[in-house]
Amino acid sequence: MDIFSLDKKYIANTYARFPLQIVKGKGSIAIDINGKKYIDFGSGIAVNTFGYSDKKWAKAVTKQVKKFQHTSNLYYHEKCTILAEKLCEKTGFKKVFFSNSGAEANECAIKVIRKYAEVKKGKDCYKIITLVNSFHGRTITTLSATGQDVFHNDFLPLTDGFIHVKAGDFEALENIVKTEKIAGVLMELVQGEGGVMPLDENFVQKVEKLCKDNDVVLAIDEVQTGNGRTGSLYAYQGYNIKPDLITTAKGLGGGLPIGATMLSEKVEDVLKAGMHGSTFGGNPVASAGAISIIDRLDEKFLNSVKEKSNYIISNLSAEEGVIKVSGKGLMLGIETKKSAKEVALKCLEKGLIVLTAKNKVRLLPPLNIDYKTLKKGVEILKSVIRDEL
Ligand SMILES: *Cc1c(COP(=O)(O)O)cnc(C)c1O
Repeated sequence: MDIFSLDKKYIANTYARFPLQIVKGKGSIAIDINGKKYIDFGSGIAVNTFGYSDKKWAKAVTKQVKKFQHTSNLYYHEKCTILAEKLCEKTGFKKVFFSNSGAEANECAIKVIRKYAEVKKGKDCYKIITLVNSFHGRTITTLSATGQDVFHNDFLPLTDGFIHVKAGDFEALENIVKTEKIAGVLMELVQGEGGVMPLDENFVQKVEKLCKDNDVVLAIDEVQTGNGRTGSLYAYQGYNIKPDLITTAKGLGGGLPIGATMLSEKVEDVLKAGMHGSTFGGNPVASAGAISIIDRLDEKFLNSVKEKSNYIISNLSAEEGVIKVSGKGLMLGIETKKSAKEVALKCLEKGLIVLTAKNKVRLLPPLNIDYKTLKKGVEILKSVIRDEL
């Protein structure tokens, strides 16, 4: 049986996969089973920060694999501790909890918010405000946090205690904080799955002040925006705010599963021994890979991300078939006159991998993509957008 039939027979039906079987990759190039090459503007959904099988990353990972692969969190091992130190030194956060995915990083954030509020304000203060059109994960609780009904309806009842407010509607948010018992606010700064929609800076800064004034925990979901993706190490730094905690995952591991919940002094000691845990969290191999990623995301590199972003935006904005380009850094959404799905499929035919988010074509290329490859990919995308389908 070919892989398409086998997959259909044995893999749960949850994914509508593109008709592509990747057998090899190098940098920003994926190669399929027939030897056809693709420029990859998707990075496995913002995961392969330095592309496929990046040399430094692969070396760090294989070196660790050969030493030992796992210890559990009953014992010390150096890699996750060093990674936590690096993350804290680069951001100003005080402590890190490691898990294995974005959803888990958010679960931890939600537990921290609830526990903080319980201690400070009492048991009946547990509600968390999230935004309409947000995406926070697929577990029942992160699904409940997610402000999109389409994800909810099959799995009722959801976890209690999430209030969804429209992004940008500060008055509504303020009104809820003033009239209800609110423990925290959790939001993405660029809504990724929701269509690559950046929040308004003024709105974000007002929410930060409101949270501070009312002792409400401000949590930023940087699962997709983090780790250099938007041209800042973390997107909140580009918004000039200081959240009480952030979560990240996707690009942190450079291709291996890792999640991180980073805690400021306000919440660093909320969780006590035994309150939370993860068997795999901070796994040495994933952590070794993550160190090799984080070490390279310096000022100069982040500036190059911004420059590449400008290159794409200036190239696509003027295109006849493009309605609007949104996003930040190398996390961009292209609203095209043609349907995003059609554009993505046509690009694939022509050797370019792009993603979609809602009605947008979504671009998440490896952050270290070279200009020659970037240019080639943009040209393919332009030709598809122009082409009569
Ligand atoms: C992808 C994503 C998640 C979920 O991450 P998983 O690793 O799939 O659990 C949560 N929040 C945001 C903003 C994401 O983009």
